[in-house]
Amino acid sequence: MPVLKKNIWLVFYALVLTGSILLAYISYVRWYDIKESLQKQQQYQVELVKNSVSSVLENQSILLRVIGSQITKDVFLNHPDAIRSLFDEQLRLNPELAGIGVSRPDGTPFIVSKNLRQLPRLNLSTAKETSESFKRALVSQDVVIGRTYYHPNLKEWIIPIRKSLRTQEGELYGLVAVGVYLEGTSFWSSATHINPHHQLSVVRDSDLYFQFYSSGWNNSQQSYNKPLTQNSFDTFVQRSTEKYQISEFELRNGSTQISLEYNVRGDSVFSDIRFNPDLGLWFVSEMKNSAVWDVFYHTFWIYCLIFGSTLVIIFFLFKLIYQADKKRHQALVYQAHHDKLTALPNRNYILYKEAERFEKPDNPFSIIFIDMDRFKNINDSYGHKFGDKVLIEITRRLKVSCNSNDLIARLSGDEFLILTSETNPTELTSKAKKIIQTLCEPYDINKQHFILGASAGIAQYPAHGDNLEAVLSSADLAMFDAKTLKSSVSFFDPIMMNDHIDRLKIEQELHRGLSESEFYMVYQPKIDGDGKVYGVEALVRWKNQQLGFVPPDRFISVAESCGLIPALGEFIIKTTLTDIASLQKEIDFEFNVAINISVQQFFHANFVDLLEQEIAGRNIPYDKITLEITESLFIEDIDALLLILQRIRSLGMEISLDDFGTGFSSLGMLRRLPIDELKIDKSFVDNILTEEPARQMVQSIIAISQNYQMSVIAEGVEEIEQAQLLKDFGCYHFQGYHFARPLPLDELREFIIHNRAQASPVAD
Ligand code: C2E
Ligand code: CA
Ligand code: CA
Repeated sequence: MPVLKKNIWLVFYALVLTGSILLAYISYVRWYDIKESLQKQQQYQVELVKNSVSSVLENQSILLRVIGSQITKDVFLNHPDAIRSLFDEQLRLNPELAGIGVSRPDGTPFIVSKNLRQLPRLNLSTAKETSESFKRALVSQDVVIGRTYYHPNLKEWIIPIRKSLRTQEGELYGLVAVGVYLEGTSFWSSATHINPHHQLSVVRDSDLYFQFYSSGWNNSQQSYNKPLTQNSFDTFVQRSTEKYQISEFELRNGSTQISLEYNVRGDSVFSDIRFNPDLGLWFVSEMKNSAVWDVFYHTFWIYCLIFGSTLVIIFFLFKLIYQADKKRHQALVYQAHHDKLTALPNRNYILYKEAERFEKPDNPFSIIFIDMDRFKNINDSYGHKFGDKVLIEITRRLKVSCNSNDLIARLSGDEFLILTSETNPTELTSKAKKIIQTLCEPYDINKQHFILGASAGIAQYPAHGDNLEAVLSSADLAMFDAKTLKSSVSFFDPIMMNDHIDRLKIEQELHRGLSESEFYMVYQPKIDGDGKVYGVEALVRWKNQQLGFVPPDRFISVAESCGLIPALGEFIIKTTLTDIASLQKEIDFEFNVAINISVQQFFHANFVDLLEQEIAGRNIPYDKITLEITESLFIEDIDALLLILQRIRSLGMEISLDDFGTGFSSLGMLRRLPIDELKIDKSFVDNILTEEPARQMVQSIIAISQNYQMSVIAEGVEEIEQAQLLKDFGCYHFQGYHFARPLPLDELREFIIHNRAQASPVAD
């Protein structure tokens, strides 16, 4: 069936061909049927003519013999009146007779029937048409049928039959003759034409003159006066004897019915021939092939009409099927190339319909790759139907902010693509920013008010890739870069590619790192205002066979994006708790341990359960454990975040907000969330001595912590002056190289022991 669908017109052509062959075959059979039937008619006709002509001529011959026997020599010489009355009586009785006459042996007419008496008489031995048969009759004992001739006086065509009159001793004393009408007798009426292409003839064997000619094709006057050529007769005899495998003698005994085909003046003719040996006459029926064609054309025309109209019906049927199929196919192609929800073109559309664009490097164009931030939250919180509505609204906004020449496509879930002919980087960036701005405007759907972020990456053809996949992955990298900043736009830079490749290498090696225990923990002491260690921050380290030492801020994000964070996080938690528990026991000193928790790890289903389970067995008080989180958590589902934070809090653990000041947490959010500590980011500490804004930032973070009853710690303290200033501003907790670097467990033990023995206040 699929093959049939594919080649529907092939099937149609095959049908036409088969139909035509069938039509040709039927026509061929029909043509021969017609010919056969005409041949049969012709045979019948020949038979009929032969019988009727023979019977007329034989009857008249008998009559002549009877008359001849009545005209004895005595009667001939002495009783002319008796002959006259005999003739008149016979003429009256026999309407087929044109006349009766008796002549002397020299040919001079003696007595004729009544109808001829007033007319001028012919000398039969000298007249051209009669002389030959007259002379033959003089020497013959039997009746002689003469050539058909035109009797000028009677104005009729006559067949003469003659018989010599002799005494018993054989003495010739006269010749009696009857003339038989050619027309108007049963002779004539039996010789009707089957069709205009048919003709009948009776040919005399003796001299090859026509005895009768139905004048189908020719002028009869000429026909009766001119014999057939001996040549054509010989050809006929030869063909017949060859065809029927008989001798000429057998041919002439009249038992074989002969059918032949030959050409007559360019026309092909089929004939049927009989011979009457008694009369010495050939009865010939000939018909041109045109007769077959005449009947055939009539039938053929009807066949063609039926065939043609059937074809037309089938054609329209096929056309209907074809069109329905085409429509179905187009619908399928449309479905395959368009997104069902938004009706926007999809990736396939660009791949197949826009493929040409990627073959013309002279026609550069750009791709703006857009990804909605936090869209997953929408689906999770409000359900997919609601999410669909949001996507439709996003589509509407995209359409509004693009111009008509731009192609907007939906690549997947919340990823959109704009293909534009704009190539100027400044214009492009501002166009992308405008789009992002539109997408970031508040949404109001089903009475729900919310804000969504969107990030855009821009890449160009052919500068950033020579095919769709390459340009798309460049745009994707740029988008990934934009994502780190949230709701921003990034233009592709080849560095991103290197970065991407590095990330790929890291991703590959991470698996091995985990299975081959390449990770280990170090601990950076946290110092209070008195210079005493009050806690440590656990920091993970990775020394890979291939890549060497990989810093955590490189591999943590890769582990996050490739789903390895739960395993790595579990390792960090277990190792840290084991190390710290054993150290605390060993040196009999309880101190705080801060563990960094990444976003993915935080939201992992059984994160808190795992934590609880690991802490329980190790005898570390919950209040000596701090979890360091970052502001990036806040862009996720706040309600879910709150639940987890509250659970952590209820267990007694503390929460520290790392890298504070670099993200975008609002004061309102800080008040809602159970946070114990703010960690001033290293970037501010770095500049605290030299830059006023950094100083102001540090001061306001400290002020916030005081307002919200949170503690505050500064990280990245490398110089005593920084610590001094921080202390002046009101921050009494420090972490940094000035005090200690992140240390392996052994060194940490030494550091703490040493610190406990001789710690002195930080600055004054
Ligand atoms: P972070 O949480 O802000 O960690 C502090 C980073 O500052 C650490 O880098 C630490 O070695 C470095 N540091 C501390 N004092 C100084 C200083 O005086 N000068 C300088 N130049 N650097 C200082 P590290 O260990 O390379 O970690 C980088 C980041 O990687 C961390 O930033 C944290 O975000 C992430 N990270 C490290 N370990 C873990 C971990 O175990 N789990 C998770 N989720 N993230 C981790
Ligand atoms: Ca940290
Ligand atoms: Ca930090």
